[in-house]
Amino acid sequence: MVEITSTVHISNFCYFMEKCAYCGFAVGTSPDGYLFLTDKKQEEIKKAAISIAKSGIKRVSISAGYGNFYKILKGLEIIKENTKLKVLINIGGDLNRTEITLLKSAGVDTICCNLETMNLNLFRKLKPEDSIEKRMKVCYQVKETGTELSSGLLVGIGETEKDRQLHLEFLNAIEVDEVPVMGFHPYRGTPMEQMEEASLKLQLKVIKLVKSKIPSLKRLTVPFPTIGKEGIIPAVKAGATNIATVIPKNYPLPIKGVGSPSVGILEEILTILEKEGIKADVKKPVSV
Ligand code: SF4
Repeated sequence: MVEITSTVHISNFCYFMEKCAYCGFAVGTSPDGYLFLTDKKQEEIKKAAISIAKSGIKRVSISAGYGNFYKILKGLEIIKENTKLKVLINIGGDLNRTEITLLKSAGVDTICCNLETMNLNLFRKLKPEDSIEKRMKVCYQVKETGTELSSGLLVGIGETEKDRQLHLEFLNAIEVDEVPVMGFHPYRGTPMEQMEEASLKLQLKVIKLVKSKIPSLKRLTVPFPTIGKEGIIPAVKAGATNIATVIPKNYPLPIKGVGSPSVGILEEILTILEKEGIKADVKKPVSV
Protein backbone atom coordinates (compact mmCIF):
# COMPACT_ATOMS: atom_id res chain seq x y z
CA MET A 1 0.00 0.00 0.00
CA VAL A 2 1.45 3.34 -1.06
CA GLU A 3 0.67 6.53 0.85
CA ILE A 4 -0.04 9.77 -0.97
CA THR A 5 0.87 13.14 0.57
CA SER A 6 -0.46 16.38 -0.80
CA THR A 7 0.87 19.86 -0.26
CA VAL A 8 0.02 23.45 0.59
CA HIS A 9 2.79 26.02 0.29
CA ILE A 10 1.99 28.55 3.00
CA SER A 11 4.59 31.16 2.05
CA ASN A 12 7.68 31.36 -0.15
CA PHE A 13 9.11 34.18 1.95
CA CYS A 14 12.50 33.20 3.39
CA TYR A 15 14.55 35.59 5.48
CA PHE A 16 17.94 34.34 4.24
CA MET A 17 19.60 37.15 2.26
CA GLU A 18 21.77 34.66 0.36
CA LYS A 19 19.40 31.89 -0.63
CA CYS A 20 20.42 28.21 -0.80
CA ALA A 21 22.15 27.55 -4.12
CA TYR A 22 19.56 25.05 -5.36
CA CYS A 23 16.46 26.89 -4.13
CA GLY A 24 13.80 27.69 -6.72
CA PHE A 25 11.04 28.05 -4.10
CA ALA A 26 11.85 31.28 -2.26
CA VAL A 27 10.93 34.74 -3.56
CA GLY A 28 13.18 35.87 -6.41
CA THR A 29 15.10 32.63 -6.89
CA SER A 30 13.84 31.25 -10.23
CA PRO A 31 11.54 32.33 -13.08
CA ASP A 32 10.29 28.73 -13.12
CA GLY A 33 9.43 28.83 -9.41
CA TYR A 34 6.95 31.17 -7.77
CA LEU A 35 9.41 34.09 -8.25
CA PHE A 36 7.08 36.60 -6.54
CA LEU A 37 5.77 36.43 -3.01
CA THR A 38 3.04 33.85 -2.54
CA ASP A 39 1.54 34.16 0.91
CA LYS A 40 -1.59 32.04 1.33
CA LYS A 41 -4.58 33.64 2.99
CA GLN A 42 -6.41 31.64 5.66
CA GLU A 43 -9.42 31.12 3.38
CA GLU A 44 -7.14 29.78 0.61
CA ILE A 45 -5.51 27.31 3.00
CA LYS A 46 -8.94 26.09 4.09
CA LYS A 47 -10.15 25.67 0.50
CA ALA A 48 -7.00 23.79 -0.55
CA ALA A 49 -7.19 21.48 2.48
CA ILE A 50 -10.87 20.72 1.89
CA SER A 51 -10.22 19.91 -1.79
CA ILE A 52 -7.40 17.54 -0.75
CA ALA A 53 -9.55 15.83 1.87
CA LYS A 54 -12.50 15.44 -0.54
CA SER A 55 -10.21 13.82 -3.13
CA GLY A 56 -9.55 10.95 -0.72
CA ILE A 57 -5.94 11.88 0.10
CA LYS A 58 -5.27 11.42 3.83
CA ARG A 59 -2.12 13.46 4.41
CA VAL A 60 -0.81 16.93 3.58
CA SER A 61 2.51 18.68 3.93
CA ILE A 62 2.50 22.39 4.71
CA SER A 63 5.69 24.28 4.16
CA ALA A 64 7.31 27.70 4.09
CA GLY A 65 10.71 29.36 4.10
CA TYR A 66 12.44 30.72 7.22
CA GLY A 67 10.50 33.34 9.22
CA ASN A 68 6.99 31.91 8.94
CA PHE A 69 6.40 29.98 12.17
CA TYR A 70 3.11 31.63 13.16
CA LYS A 71 1.70 31.33 9.63
CA ILE A 72 2.52 27.62 9.65
CA LEU A 73 0.95 27.20 13.10
CA LYS A 74 -2.22 28.95 11.91
CA GLY A 75 -2.25 26.83 8.73
CA LEU A 76 -2.00 23.68 10.84
CA GLU A 77 -4.89 24.84 13.07
CA ILE A 78 -7.08 25.63 10.03
CA ILE A 79 -6.45 22.20 8.48
CA LYS A 80 -7.10 20.37 11.75
CA GLU A 81 -10.33 22.35 12.34
CA ASN A 82 -11.71 21.66 8.86
CA THR A 83 -10.45 18.18 7.87
CA LYS A 84 -9.18 14.88 9.24
CA LEU A 85 -5.96 15.16 7.24
CA LYS A 86 -2.69 14.12 8.85
CA VAL A 87 -0.30 17.07 8.67
CA LEU A 88 3.45 17.26 8.15
CA ILE A 89 5.03 20.69 8.58
CA ASN A 90 8.30 21.73 7.01
CA ILE A 91 10.01 25.02 7.80
CA GLY A 92 13.49 23.54 7.83
CA GLY A 93 15.55 24.29 10.91
CA ASP A 94 13.55 27.40 11.83
CA LEU A 95 12.17 25.89 15.05
CA ASN A 96 12.94 25.80 18.75
CA ARG A 97 11.66 23.55 21.53
CA THR A 98 8.80 25.89 22.49
CA GLU A 99 7.61 26.11 18.89
CA ILE A 100 7.80 22.33 18.46
CA THR A 101 5.66 21.97 21.59
CA LEU A 102 3.13 24.49 20.21
CA LEU A 103 2.91 22.50 16.96
CA LYS A 104 2.41 19.31 18.96
CA SER A 105 -0.41 20.89 20.97
CA ALA A 106 -2.05 21.97 17.69
CA GLY A 107 -2.05 18.34 16.52
CA VAL A 108 0.90 18.14 14.11
CA ASP A 109 1.55 14.55 13.02
CA THR A 110 5.05 14.87 11.54
CA ILE A 111 7.72 17.56 11.60
CA CYS A 112 10.18 17.58 8.73
CA CYS A 113 13.69 18.96 9.05
CA ASN A 114 15.88 17.86 6.16
CA LEU A 115 19.66 17.91 6.66
CA GLU A 116 20.03 17.60 2.84
CA THR A 117 23.67 16.47 3.20
CA MET A 118 26.01 15.72 6.10
CA ASN A 119 29.05 16.76 4.08
CA LEU A 120 29.81 19.89 6.11
CA ASN A 121 31.79 21.72 3.41
CA LEU A 122 29.11 21.03 0.84
CA PHE A 123 26.35 22.08 3.25
CA ARG A 124 28.09 25.42 3.92
CA LYS A 125 28.67 25.98 0.21
CA LEU A 126 25.08 25.23 -0.79
CA LYS A 127 23.37 26.75 2.25
CA PRO A 128 25.59 29.66 3.31
CA GLU A 129 23.16 31.16 5.85
CA ASP A 130 21.86 27.88 7.22
CA SER A 131 23.32 25.76 10.02
CA ILE A 132 23.56 21.99 10.01
CA GLU A 133 24.09 22.02 13.78
CA LYS A 134 20.78 23.88 14.21
CA ARG A 135 19.00 21.41 11.93
CA MET A 136 20.45 18.43 13.80
CA LYS A 137 19.30 20.01 17.08
CA VAL A 138 15.78 20.41 15.69
CA CYS A 139 15.79 16.73 14.67
CA TYR A 140 16.74 15.71 18.27
CA GLN A 141 14.14 18.04 19.78
CA VAL A 142 11.36 16.73 17.53
CA LYS A 143 12.16 13.18 18.65
CA GLU A 144 12.40 14.28 22.31
CA THR A 145 8.86 15.67 22.20
CA GLY A 146 7.60 12.34 20.87
CA THR A 147 6.63 13.76 17.48
CA GLU A 148 7.18 11.84 14.26
CA LEU A 149 10.36 13.08 12.53
CA SER A 150 10.89 13.28 8.80
CA SER A 151 14.40 14.08 7.62
CA GLY A 152 15.76 13.49 4.17
CA LEU A 153 18.62 13.58 1.72
CA LEU A 154 19.14 15.75 -1.32
CA VAL A 155 20.70 13.38 -3.81
CA GLY A 156 23.12 14.28 -6.64
CA ILE A 157 24.36 17.64 -5.30
CA GLY A 158 28.02 16.64 -5.16
CA GLU A 159 27.86 14.35 -2.12
CA THR A 160 29.83 11.12 -2.01
CA GLU A 161 28.77 7.58 -1.19
CA LYS A 162 30.55 7.97 2.16
CA ASP A 163 28.55 11.16 2.91
CA ARG A 164 25.30 9.28 2.31
CA GLN A 165 26.43 6.39 4.53
CA LEU A 166 27.26 8.79 7.38
CA HIS A 167 23.99 10.63 6.89
CA LEU A 168 21.98 7.41 7.11
CA GLU A 169 23.89 6.28 10.19
CA PHE A 170 22.86 9.54 11.89
CA LEU A 171 19.22 9.18 10.82
CA ASN A 172 19.16 5.57 11.99
CA ALA A 173 20.72 6.53 15.33
CA ILE A 174 18.06 9.16 16.04
CA GLU A 175 15.32 6.74 14.96
CA VAL A 176 13.97 8.89 12.17
CA ASP A 177 10.40 7.96 11.20
CA GLU A 178 10.33 9.16 7.60
CA VAL A 179 13.07 9.73 5.05
CA PRO A 180 12.40 11.71 1.86
CA VAL A 181 14.82 10.88 -0.95
CA MET A 182 14.96 14.02 -3.09
CA GLY A 183 16.83 13.84 -6.38
CA PHE A 184 18.46 17.13 -7.29
CA HIS A 185 16.86 18.92 -10.23
CA PRO A 186 18.32 22.29 -11.31
CA TYR A 187 15.97 25.24 -11.16
CA ARG A 188 16.55 27.83 -13.93
CA GLY A 189 18.14 31.07 -12.76
CA THR A 190 19.73 29.56 -9.62
CA PRO A 191 23.51 29.22 -9.05
CA MET A 192 23.15 25.47 -9.75
CA GLU A 193 21.19 25.73 -12.99
CA GLN A 194 24.05 24.24 -15.05
CA MET A 195 24.43 21.18 -12.85
CA GLU A 196 23.10 17.86 -14.09
CA GLU A 197 19.97 16.52 -12.45
CA ALA A 198 20.19 13.38 -10.33
CA SER A 199 19.53 10.35 -12.51
CA LEU A 200 16.68 8.01 -11.74
CA LYS A 201 19.28 5.26 -11.36
CA LEU A 202 21.01 7.19 -8.55
CA GLN A 203 17.70 7.98 -6.82
CA LEU A 204 16.72 4.29 -6.91
CA LYS A 205 20.11 3.28 -5.53
CA VAL A 206 19.66 5.68 -2.60
CA ILE A 207 16.09 4.50 -1.97
CA LYS A 208 17.41 0.92 -1.66
CA LEU A 209 20.24 2.11 0.58
CA VAL A 210 17.83 3.95 2.91
CA LYS A 211 15.64 0.86 3.12
CA SER A 212 18.55 -1.39 4.02
CA LYS A 213 20.20 1.01 6.50
CA ILE A 214 17.07 2.05 8.43
CA PRO A 215 14.98 -1.09 8.81
CA SER A 216 12.61 0.46 11.38
CA LEU A 217 11.60 3.29 9.03
CA LYS A 218 7.84 3.99 8.94
CA ARG A 219 7.78 5.86 5.63
CA LEU A 220 10.15 6.26 2.69
CA THR A 221 9.08 9.27 0.64
CA VAL A 222 9.69 10.27 -2.96
CA PRO A 223 8.46 13.73 -3.95
CA PHE A 224 6.80 13.73 -7.37
CA PRO A 225 8.74 16.85 -8.57
CA THR A 226 12.04 15.00 -8.22
CA ILE A 227 11.13 11.36 -9.00
CA GLY A 228 8.87 12.26 -11.98
CA LYS A 229 6.10 10.22 -13.56
CA GLU A 230 8.44 7.60 -15.04
CA GLY A 231 10.13 7.09 -11.67
CA ILE A 232 7.03 6.27 -9.62
CA ILE A 233 6.80 2.52 -10.24
CA PRO A 234 10.58 1.87 -10.10
CA ALA A 235 10.73 3.89 -6.85
CA VAL A 236 7.90 1.90 -5.26
CA LYS A 237 9.51 -1.36 -6.37
CA ALA A 238 12.81 -0.16 -4.86
CA GLY A 239 11.14 0.51 -1.48
CA ALA A 240 9.41 3.91 -1.56
CA THR A 241 6.14 3.87 0.42
CA ASN A 242 4.92 7.44 0.05
CA ILE A 243 4.55 9.74 -2.97
CA ALA A 244 4.56 13.41 -2.00
CA THR A 245 3.57 16.70 -3.67
CA VAL A 246 0.45 15.20 -5.20
CA ILE A 247 -2.64 17.35 -5.73
CA PRO A 248 -6.17 16.51 -6.91
CA LYS A 249 -7.04 17.83 -10.37
CA ASN A 250 -9.49 20.39 -8.94
CA TYR A 251 -6.88 21.84 -6.52
CA PRO A 252 -7.85 25.50 -6.14
CA LEU A 253 -4.44 27.23 -5.92
CA PRO A 254 -1.60 27.78 -8.40
CA ILE A 255 1.27 25.50 -7.35
CA LYS A 256 4.91 24.75 -8.20
CA GLY A 257 6.94 21.82 -6.89
CA VAL A 258 9.85 22.49 -4.55
CA GLY A 259 12.52 20.32 -6.23
CA SER A 260 11.23 21.17 -9.72
CA PRO A 261 8.20 23.10 -11.02
CA SER A 262 6.10 19.95 -11.66
CA VAL A 263 3.56 18.43 -9.26
CA GLY A 264 1.80 15.07 -9.33
CA ILE A 265 -1.88 14.86 -10.22
CA LEU A 266 -3.69 12.36 -8.00
CA GLU A 267 -5.95 10.89 -10.66
CA GLU A 268 -2.97 10.25 -13.02
CA ILE A 269 -0.88 8.70 -10.27
CA LEU A 270 -3.69 6.38 -9.18
CA THR A 271 -3.99 5.15 -12.79
CA ILE A 272 -0.23 4.50 -12.98
CA LEU A 273 -0.30 2.56 -9.69
CA GLU A 274 -3.46 0.62 -10.59
CA LYS A 275 -1.94 -0.57 -13.89
CA GLU A 276 0.81 -2.24 -11.84
CA GLY A 277 -1.64 -3.63 -9.30
CA ILE A 278 -0.31 -1.36 -6.55
CA LYS A 279 -2.89 -0.07 -4.04
CA ALA A 280 -2.84 3.54 -2.86
CA ASP A 281 -3.88 4.47 0.67
CA VAL A 282 -6.64 6.89 -0.33
CA LYS A 283 -10.31 7.08 0.64
CA LYS A 284 -13.17 7.07 -1.82
CA PRO A 285 -13.45 10.65 -3.12
CA VAL A 286 -16.37 12.73 -1.85
CA SER A 287 -18.33 14.23 -4.74
CA VAL A 288 -18.78 18.02 -4.69
S1 SF4 B 1 15.93 27.71 3.60
FE1 SF4 B 1 14.51 26.78 2.13
S2 SF4 B 1 13.30 28.47 1.33
FE2 SF4 B 1 15.09 29.38 2.33
S3 SF4 B 1 16.58 29.63 0.67
FE3 SF4 B 1 17.01 27.65 1.62
S4 SF4 B 1 15.84 26.11 0.42
FE4 SF4 B 1 15.04 28.19 -0.06
